[in-house]
Amino acid sequence: MINAINNFSLKTPQTQTLSRQNQIKPDVQSIITNPIKRPKLPQPTTMMALLYNNISFTGHREDLVRSIGHVSCPCCGTKMLTNDDMTKISKDLSKEDTAKHYINTLKPYEEYMHKTEKDVFHRFEKWGQENPENTISDFLSENRDASMDICKNKQADIFKQINSTANSISKDAGEKFENLTKTYSKTPINNEEDMKTIRKYMISDIKTSKRLINNEDKYNELKTLAESLPTSKNDADAFIVRYAGQKSEKIGTRLLKLSVGTIEHVKPQADGGKDRIENYLLECGECNHTRGDVSLKDWVEEHPEMKENTQKYFDEVIEKINNNELSHGLDNYPNAVKGALNTQSQGTLTYDTSALKPKQEETKKANNAEKSEKQGSKNEQVETAQKPHTHKPQKPHKPHPHHHINLAA
Ligand SMILES: [Zn+2]
Repeated sequence: MINAINNFSLKTPQTQTLSRQNQIKPDVQSIITNPIKRPKLPQPTTMMALLYNNISFTGHREDLVRSIGHVSCPCCGTKMLTNDDMTKISKDLSKEDTAKHYINTLKPYEEYMHKTEKDVFHRFEKWGQENPENTISDFLSENRDASMDICKNKQADIFKQINSTANSISKDAGEKFENLTKTYSKTPINNEEDMKTIRKYMISDIKTSKRLINNEDKYNELKTLAESLPTSKNDADAFIVRYAGQKSEKIGTRLLKLSVGTIEHVKPQADGGKDRIENYLLECGECNHTRGDVSLKDWVEEHPEMKENTQKYFDEVIEKINNNELSHGLDNYPNAVKGALNTQSQGTLTYDTSALKPKQEETKKANNAEKSEKQGSKNEQVETAQKPHTHKPQKPHKPHPHHHINLAA
């Protein structure tokens, strides 16, 4: 614990955060600076056009999966944006700084925002109605101090709940967490990074106290409490503290950029996961970033909602495939990923793809059905024509295919 406090001044948590950010850097940062290595497509002008963009695809496998476009994140269930959307949003925002313009530009994308971002946007929207000519940057600066106080109060409140839970476990646990929260409460908080550090250590302390806690439910309760300590990811006030002082455009794009679909390797590359569509999920930047190196099995355990959301993701992908909205390279994608998802989640992540209409198979079937129908009707004619000569009418003569060919010839 003392080490933990001493480490506050060290770079450990930041370094780790940064290295994780680096993992998705190409996806998140390329949004603005490096728009899409794709075959040239007609520029869609409306959201509907974007939604139903039927892409004939010849590029990279990752881009093939990215081209799935607007579907729900298999992890958190939030609708995902594309890099194209983000380029457009960023360009639109850059035209004018005013709250009025920002609200109009961001409003159509509200459903793509994660909860914290949506909270910030709603507060900004309300504020912007009274300050239409001011900027989102003004909004954050104006609210920063109040938001900081709110975050400190939230933290104090969560510490109280942690102590109360710990006291209900045992005297030892109560004392341990009393000491921990007292120490953390004395740690000065000057910015959102400090909040994140305290949260990180609190979670880590709970994990290392698992044996002392010795109760699965209480352990999960404590962990959930520690995880609810405010950061810019889970709390609008912490978001305001974090981004106050930044330029309007950065704040505006930040409200949406973690909703952009990014490539998630089901089996991590570090474990030998291959760069193939059988190993890809399109996942929002936020989930991809947060999961980091956690194994899929542990991740599903921590996020049970992923089971339902994965089904939702594939249902939406399947609908697009059935409606011929996606490249044929993705025709069998929903089945192709099954193996990796099943293995990596150790059987906990399964989903139903029975709604997928098998493309080529179906065309073949349709052709065969047509053929046999034609043949059938010809055969009938043959039978009718031959009937008078048949001596055994109860066992109608089934003409060999050659018969009708001969007849036709
Ligand atoms: Zn997500």
